[in-house]
Amino acid sequence: LTSNKELLNQQEKRESNARSYPRRIPLAISEAEGIHVTDMEGKKYYDCLAGAGTLALGHNHPAVVEAMEQVIRDKRPLHTLDLTTPVKEEFVNELFASLPEGFRDRAKVQFCGPTGGDAIEAALKLVKTATGRQSILTFQGGYHGATHGTMAISGNLGPKKKVGGLMPDTHFLPYPYTYRCPFGIGGEESHRISARYIENLLDDPESGILPPAAMIFETVQGEGGSIPAPIEWLQEMRRITEERGIPLIIDEVQTGIGRTGKLFSFEHAGIVPDVFVLSKAIGGSLPLSVVVYDKDLDCWEPGAHIGTFRGNQMAMAAGTATLKYIKENDLIQHADKMGQRLLKSLSGLQSEFPEIGDVRGRGLMIGVEMVDPSLPQSISGSHPANPELASRIQQECFKRGLILEVGGRHGAVVRFLPPLIITGEQLDEVFSIFKEAVSASVV
Ligand code: PMP
Repeated sequence: LTSNKELLNQQEKRESNARSYPRRIPLAISEAEGIHVTDMEGKKYYDCLAGAGTLALGHNHPAVVEAMEQVIRDKRPLHTLDLTTPVKEEFVNELFASLPEGFRDRAKVQFCGPTGGDAIEAALKLVKTATGRQSILTFQGGYHGATHGTMAISGNLGPKKKVGGLMPDTHFLPYPYTYRCPFGIGGEESHRISARYIENLLDDPESGILPPAAMIFETVQGEGGSIPAPIEWLQEMRRITEERGIPLIIDEVQTGIGRTGKLFSFEHAGIVPDVFVLSKAIGGSLPLSVVVYDKDLDCWEPGAHIGTFRGNQMAMAAGTATLKYIKENDLIQHADKMGQRLLKSLSGLQSEFPEIGDVRGRGLMIGVEMVDPSLPQSISGSHPANPELASRIQQECFKRGLILEVGGRHGAVVRFLPPLIITGEQLDEVFSIFKEAVSASVV
């Protein structure tokens, strides 16, 4: 099997109908290096999906490869459940050295199964055990995974409809999606109203909300469409939860490890949650997830969260190397700078194309929301979402050698998640391909 088509057809025949990415990104990847992947026929693509934000250092980064080879050379165990090893010690040291000062001494870490979803499950169990409460406050448009528990607290209704029987006592609150303001007003005031609304709801004994075990959100909704919550809103959520003794969980699965221009995205707001969850980039491209939390919450029993694959040594070594490389090479500041550069170019493009309804993001987590400007605006000033156009742009980019993902609540957001190592020149090239694709897609 040597062609893309042969491989795609072969795998399509035997893989589940739930298979997702190959439907929109129809290539077979033969090799990968840095921010590029090469298909079976030798065509090279810019990979701005990067494992849905996993590949902070791009594909097969020498620092990561070296760390993995070292594990083999030193005859370290490859599988250890959650037993003690020097590789794990190095990882924990590097992780703790990265935590905000003040939190470092209060922090505990729980290793989880290989996925972000598993760590979110663990975080939910932790806060429920610690508070003795069951209800969870979560947000419209949020995404936390595809297990029963994480699906229950995710805002997107689509995947839930046919499953049902999900975690009860889950309350959805309005996320400050200012472009499509949940209160229909838009603009500056929108996030302030969201905060007031949430505060009032929590103080109203008849609101129908049981005393919550936690509030959980992403500081930038990723799958929900690259929607950054305003800094002031994040600070308000911290104040509101703190004043009422509600543990705050921040899902850093996609935003963490430099993606937004800070090592942890909550640092933008100068806040520290009680619990946060890391996966994706923390494993340096291999599966790993952890929950980091305040030790006051550490009152669950031994074995309260278990799982066979909680000690992936390769992933820990790759994760340690990734954290070190990011810090030593100032990639956090670089991600911030690159993000601003791309946002500026995209905003320029927005003034040429009324089909671009919104351009937004934080660091290298950027979204472009496509709309239909021929249809009337809502009261908050946004035109209806245009998922067909977003998907046409994705295909036009793909033809030109650029892999981007489409997401968002209405499937109308083209998302940029390039590796943090992307250079200014590469980013400009990515932008110019995107620009051509937009021109070719708008009819
Ligand atoms: N939380 C967020 C914010 C995510 O973006 C994702 C994955 N896209 C998850 C949780 C779930 O992670 P996983 O797919 O590894 O279960």
